[in-house]
Amino acid sequence: MTTATPRRPLELFGVDGLLTDEEREIATTVRRFVEDRLKPNVAEWFESGTPPRELTQELGSLGVLGMHLQGYGCAGTNAVSYGLACLELEAADSGLRSLVSVQGSLSMFSIYRYGSEEQKQQWLPRLASGTAIGCFGLTEPDFGSNPAGMRTHARRSGGDWVLNGSKMWITNGSLADVATIWAQTDEGIRGFVVPTDTPGLTATKITRKLSLRASVTSELSLSDVRLPASAELPEARGLGAPLACLNEARFGIVFGALGAARDSLESTLDYASTRVQFDRPIAGFQLTQQKLADMTLELGKGYLLALHLGRLKDAGRLRPEQVSLGKLNNVREAIAIARECRTILGGSGITLEYPALRHANNLESVLTYEDTSEMHTLVLGQALTGLSAFRG
Ligand code: FAD
Repeated sequence: MTTATPRRPLELFGVDGLLTDEEREIATTVRRFVEDRLKPNVAEWFESGTPPRELTQELGSLGVLGMHLQGYGCAGTNAVSYGLACLELEAADSGLRSLVSVQGSLSMFSIYRYGSEEQKQQWLPRLASGTAIGCFGLTEPDFGSNPAGMRTHARRSGGDWVLNGSKMWITNGSLADVATIWAQTDEGIRGFVVPTDTPGLTATKITRKLSLRASVTSELSLSDVRLPASAELPEARGLGAPLACLNEARFGIVFGALGAARDSLESTLDYASTRVQFDRPIAGFQLTQQKLADMTLELGKGYLLALHLGRLKDAGRLRPEQVSLGKLNNVREAIAIARECRTILGGSGITLEYPALRHANNLESVLTYEDTSEMHTLVLGQALTGLSAFRG
């Protein structure tokens, strides 16, 4: 027994009606760019491990770099619109969404929120247009989940600062023109705006990745990097500053991960409707339909959660543990959806012809960065019990 044309999974939830005209328009514009420019090329960029540098300027022209910030060439949209743009971009690839997240929510936001007027004028318009690329160095080889222990150190030397140390897993690191570097000082953790051509700063691309291949990830080494006093982010005091930046980026992930899930599910639905085994489309088997129905439920619930958190953020009422809740759930469900889609694709699912396994592999990184699922679980545990379990 057949029925009318198959429906797109999120249509079942009627979510479009929950958006304003402007939000819908922004999502549509980004989706068009994704369909025309990103999707036809992303498998190649993933395979070669080299997204083209000029893509950043195209993303700047699209208006998505720092789009939720006000002034300095930024679009000044609301948080929900930013989230929807992340979702559409991640429907292409989590690595491409990462480029946008790191540029807007980590590099630009750190300067926007904690920088001097001079730093903002110097960097934000270029970063918004994509003529400059930014990165954000918090993680170190020995300090990932526990950045408080960082060893990178800045000491005063006359009127200057001198930085030594290393940073690991830095998105955009080898592409960047400017790096926000977090370091211990005698006065506590401080942030520094470091042009990447400063002598003593070197970036080495991390190769042989199995995940997020369409994104550049690097190790940064700082050896007697001398900076003027004006390089310090004047408003950043202590670890709370970089953690607040991470919270901005995590918000984008709450939406973004659903893009990878939606794309996996939609492409798999199309495949299942035409792939015939035992004389009928595999979409007609009950076991396949159960998978499709369960995945649709999780996708829709994740979307409603993201939208709710976005509305809270736009109302200025979003708390960090609520962002943890969204990241934990939506990345966990997105990776489960991408993996389940791969099973429906059978052997075809292991190639780059279909996006599900590429999305699943990418989501391994998304599960880990901006704090691991375990860290977000502990955040929720602490919120529920009042007890911190971070140290066992
Ligand atoms: P670890 O901290 O060593 O953790 C290993 C395991 O131990 C995890 O499962 C973790 O959950 C678990 N664990 C640790 N502590 C506890 C505990 N108390 N209780 C229970 N379990 C625990 N960082 C940046 O600064 N800038 C970037 O641009 C950036 N981009 C990244 C891009 C990619 C592709 C990746 C993979 C990472 C990126 N990161 C970046 C780093 C990322 O934020 C870290 O990898 C992450 O915080 C985890 O740190 P770690 O890898 O050192 O793992």
